[in-house]
Amino acid sequence: MSGRPEVLFPLFAGLETLPGIGPKTARALEQIDVETPGDLLFLLPYAVVDRRRRATVRGLDLPVTATVEVTVRAHRKPASRGGAWRVLVEDEGADFQLVFFHARGGYLEGLLPVGSRRVVSGRIELFDGAAQMVHPDHVLPVDEAAAIPEFEPVYHLTQGVSQKLMLKALQGALARLPELDEWIDPGLLAREGWPGWATALRVAHAPRGMDDLSPTTPARARLAYDELFAHQLTLALARGRERKARGISSRGDGRLRARVLAALPYALTGAQQRAIAEIAADMAAPERMARLLQGDVGAGKTVVALMALLNAVEAGGQGAMMAPTEILARQHFEGLRPLAMAAGVTLDILTGRDKAAVRRDRLAALKRGETHIIVGTHALFQADVEFADLRLAIIDEQHRFGVRQRLDLASKGAGADMLVMTATPIPRSLALAQYGDMDVSLLDEKPPGRKPIRTAVVTSERMDEVVAHLRRAISEGRQCYWVCPLVEESEIVDLTAAQDRFRQLRAVLGEGVVGLVHGQLAPAEKDAAMEDFQTGRTRVLVATTVIEVGVDVPNASIMVIERAETFGLAQLHQLRGRVGRGEVQSTCLLLYRPPLSEGGRRRLEVLRETEDGFAIAEADLAMRGAGDVIGVAQSGLPRFRIADLERQAGLMSIAQSDARALLAADPALESGRGRAARHLLWLMRQDRAIRLLTVG
Ligand code: ADP
Ligand code: MG
Repeated sequence: MSGRPEVLFPLFAGLETLPGIGPKTARALEQIDVETPGDLLFLLPYAVVDRRRRATVRGLDLPVTATVEVTVRAHRKPASRGGAWRVLVEDEGADFQLVFFHARGGYLEGLLPVGSRRVVSGRIELFDGAAQMVHPDHVLPVDEAAAIPEFEPVYHLTQGVSQKLMLKALQGALARLPELDEWIDPGLLAREGWPGWATALRVAHAPRGMDDLSPTTPARARLAYDELFAHQLTLALARGRERKARGISSRGDGRLRARVLAALPYALTGAQQRAIAEIAADMAAPERMARLLQGDVGAGKTVVALMALLNAVEAGGQGAMMAPTEILARQHFEGLRPLAMAAGVTLDILTGRDKAAVRRDRLAALKRGETHIIVGTHALFQADVEFADLRLAIIDEQHRFGVRQRLDLASKGAGADMLVMTATPIPRSLALAQYGDMDVSLLDEKPPGRKPIRTAVVTSERMDEVVAHLRRAISEGRQCYWVCPLVEESEIVDLTAAQDRFRQLRAVLGEGVVGLVHGQLAPAEKDAAMEDFQTGRTRVLVATTVIEVGVDVPNASIMVIERAETFGLAQLHQLRGRVGRGEVQSTCLLLYRPPLSEGGRRRLEVLRETEDGFAIAEADLAMRGAGDVIGVAQSGLPRFRIADLERQAGLMSIAQSDARALLAADPALESGRGRAARHLLWLMRQDRAIRLLTVG
C-alpha cells in the first residue's frame, strides 16, 4: 500500500482542476478541510430547491423559489442612479416584476426583449404589495430552458464560495467519479438495499425533495456507513497490531477465586458472572487483552476486578489496579483487604504519598513477587516500579484519565493484559467510536435489592427546609453528602463556597457532626475526614466534587447537590450514585438557583425522571452532541462528515463487526474486497490505517 491507487488520482488532484475553482476559492475551501475533489464529494446538500416549471406564480405562498414561463411586457428604467431596473412580465395567471440592481440597461433589454417569451427561475417575494423576483437565478429562452435543473441541491457555504460555484465544482467532481470495487460486505449491501459507492454519491447530490435529504435514505445511509466502516477498520487494524504483540496466557485454577466467592456476603449478579468469564477467557488466550468494563455506578465493578486480579495470581503472576485519586485507591485497598486475606494473597498499596523508606520496601516486595496485588494511583506507573511478573493491569474510573494514559499503561507491563473500567455509561455509538479497539464487557444489571433513589429538584430559596429535613434524618441515624457548587473551574472559589457551607451547617447541626473534604486539604486531613464519615463519626460530609467518583459509604442515604444546574448530566449522575447503596430509602436533592436556563431545566428533569445511566448518557449525547460528551480533543474521537453518531448508532456496531470480520479473514487487505477497502481508507484519509498496513 505504499502508493495511492491510480484509480483514485482524479479525486486527489488539486481543487483548481475543477471547473470554476481558482486559487482563491481553493484556499477558501481548505479552510473547511476540503483539499481535494474527493473531499468535496463528502459535503452533501442540506436542502433542495424545487425548480420544476409551473404555469403561474399566482396562489403561491410567498416567498418561494419558482420557475415560470413569462412574456416580457415592459422595461422601467431606474428613477435615480443606483435605483432598480424593473422588467414587467406576465405568466399564465399573474404579472410581476423582475428587479435588477446595478444592471446595464442595454444588457437587460437584450436578455429580455419586450414581447419575447422567457423562462425565469428565482425567489419570488412580496414587496409593497407587489410580487417581484430580484435577480432571477435563471433567465433563458424557452427552447433552452431544459438547462434549468428541476431540483437544485443547496450546500453549506463558506466565506468566498457561492452556491453557484459549489454546484459547478461538484458537478465537475461527480463527473470524474471512478467506479470502484465494492468494499461493503455483499450480504449487508443487499440486506440494506444500499447502492454502490459512486451511485450513492450521485444520488445524494441530486435530491428531488426534502425526503431525499434524510440520513435514512439508502444513498446517505451507505455513505455514512462507509465513514464508520473506515473508522472501524482503522481501530481494528490498531487492535490487530496490539494483539500481535504477544501477550501472556494466564489461566488460573480457580482456588483463590473460590475462597473469595465463599467469603462474599452476596451472590454475584448474572452480569458480573458474564464479565468475569469474558475476562478470564481473554486472559487465558495468548493475545494481549484489551477490554473495557462498562458499568454504571454501583453496578459492582470492583469485585469483577478482584476476580480478574486473582486469576492472574492463581496463574503465578501479579496484578495491579490504578485508581485516579488517592481516596479511591485507599478505598479499594481497604475494601479488598478482607477478601485478599480470605484468599490468602498479599495486597499492598502504592501512592505518591508514601514515605521514602516505606516506598522502597514496597517496591522491593513487588519486585520479588511477594506482593501479589497492588493498588495505587499514578505512582504505580512511575519508572522505578518493577514487577516480578505483571499479568494484569486495571485502570479504574478511566474517564478521569485521558486516552493517553491508557496507552502509557499499555507500555508498562510488556504483554500484560489490560482492563479499563469506566463508571461513566457511554452511549454505545460513542463507546464504539472511542474504544472500538477494545472488547467491551457490560454490567447492565445492578445488584438486587437496590431501592430507587428519590430525586427532587428544589429551589435554593428553600434551603432552610432542606436543612431542617437534614437535621431530622441525622437524628434517625442517616448520613448525608453535601456537594458544594462548582462556581468556576477554580478550586479556590469552590473551596470558599464549601468552607462557608461547612461552617453554616456545623453551626446549625452541631459541632463534630459535620465534616469537610476538598482537594486542597493535606492528604492526611483528607483521609481523616473520609474516615470520620465512613465510620459514622461525622454524619454530614460537605465536599467539593472530589467525592464524585467511586466513594462507597453504604450508610449515606442523602445527597444534596447545590447549584445542581451548573453541573453536567454525567457528573450529577455520578454524584447521585454515591447514595442508594444501603438498605434504606435514599434521597437526592438537586438544589438550583432560579431562574433556570432551558438547558439546566432539562438536565435536572432527565435526572429526576431516570436513574438509568445509559438513558442519561443518551440524553446527554442528544443535548450536547458527541464532541462535548467525551471532549473531542482528548478523546481522539473522529469528526465524521456524514455519519451522525447520535442517530446512527446501529450502523456503528455493524461497522465494527464487519471491519473485524474482514480483517480476520484478510489481515493485510489483499483479497478483492480487501483491496477495495484500501480504496475506502484512502478516500477517508485514514492515514493511520494506511501506515499500519504499509508497515505490517
Ligand atoms: P462500582 O461499579 O460503582 O465500582 P462497587 O464495586 O463499588 O460498584 O459496588 C457497589 C456496592 O455494591 C458495593 O458495596 C459492593 O459490595 C456491592 N455489590 C457488588 N456486587 C454485588 C452483588 N452482586 N450483590 C450485592 N451487592 C453487591
Ligand atoms: Mg468503583
